[in-house]
Amino acid sequence: MNMQHKSKLPHVGTTIFSVMSGLAKTHDAINLSQGFPDFGSDQKLIDLVSKAMNSGYNQYAPMAGSLELRKAISKKMEALYNSSYHPEHEITVTAGATQAISTIITTFINKNDEVVIFKPAYDSYEPGIKLNGGIPIAVQLQAPDFSIDWEEVKQKVNNQTKMIIINTPHNPSGMVFSKADLLELHEITRGTDIIVLSDEVYEHMIYDGKEHQSACLFPDLKSRSFVVASFCKTFHNTGWRIGYCCAPKELMKLFMQVHQFSVFCVHHPTQKGIADYMQEPKHYMGLSEFYQNKRDLFLSLIEHSRFSFKPSSGTYFQVLDYSNITQEYDLDYAKRLTVESGLASIPLSVFNENNLDNKVLRFCFAKKDETLKKAAEILNSI
Ligand code: GLN
Repeated sequence: MNMQHKSKLPHVGTTIFSVMSGLAKTHDAINLSQGFPDFGSDQKLIDLVSKAMNSGYNQYAPMAGSLELRKAISKKMEALYNSSYHPEHEITVTAGATQAISTIITTFINKNDEVVIFKPAYDSYEPGIKLNGGIPIAVQLQAPDFSIDWEEVKQKVNNQTKMIIINTPHNPSGMVFSKADLLELHEITRGTDIIVLSDEVYEHMIYDGKEHQSACLFPDLKSRSFVVASFCKTFHNTGWRIGYCCAPKELMKLFMQVHQFSVFCVHHPTQKGIADYMQEPKHYMGLSEFYQNKRDLFLSLIEHSRFSFKPSSGTYFQVLDYSNITQEYDLDYAKRLTVESGLASIPLSVFNENNLDNKVLRFCFAKKDETLKKAAEILNSI
């Protein structure tokens, strides 16, 4: 057989998360690369999901998700952001945030539509845009602050711009958008048809007294935005693949046309278990403090190492600058650190425009204290 198929993504290799986690496994290295906790989630949540399975929540959920869960999400959005989303028409439960993001892009992006993204950008955005014939327009942020030059954004927005994707707290940099950033975005998009995709999966991990600036806090912005969130991140179950998105009714109606034929609906017992678990807001309200302690422990342990850093303001990632140690390309250094020193991280260049190499690596601190201590020992020995 001589079949020849053309790739739809000819320039895309395997995602760095699989590459680095695979390398960590092969070399038995401590894995601070892919973002996932090495501790278990709350037994109470696991029991609630098992209970849901044992009580018959085993057939299809409604397409948009279990109404109980959508009501719980609506209540949370109201309580945290004073923002009202109708549970029946404005909230959809998705197979992780990644599916929400992919479906939003597919719903709105047509051939030659431009989508503004901020780089370093989470690696699913760009392939999603390209699969739909869209054109990613990058605004490159610079280490160590990763702050946004809104003049550059203004120059890149034109009548071809169909969407702007933001991510706050920002993966991989740990930067968080300020209120002023959101107001700039509000100004730039006002009176246009631009859709804002606001990836807020780390909304509950924000440090040093900063406040999460959700797109739904700003009425005009909210009217054009999808707010994307993740239960996997919040409840320490990245393998459960469950998240959600919120948007005004007219936008969600278009989203549902695509969602119904891509996943139909999400794992039902998990939805029921999470809906019950969410009745107690303390299950997500304490997360910033929990992770700030981990960040602080990790950074205090490596304070005297040769790596330099600016403490992460959000997410469970810390960026470390290794330019005092070597001038190697970051991907090569990340691999060498895994193979020779037994510690895996993620190089930032893979998320950058033209693979810009700022000599920084991303480390995930969603780990047991003992894991962070072992990782710090390695970093201190370099
Ligand atoms: N979001 C996680 C990270 O940034 C993992 C994503 C993935 O493995 N697909 O590391």
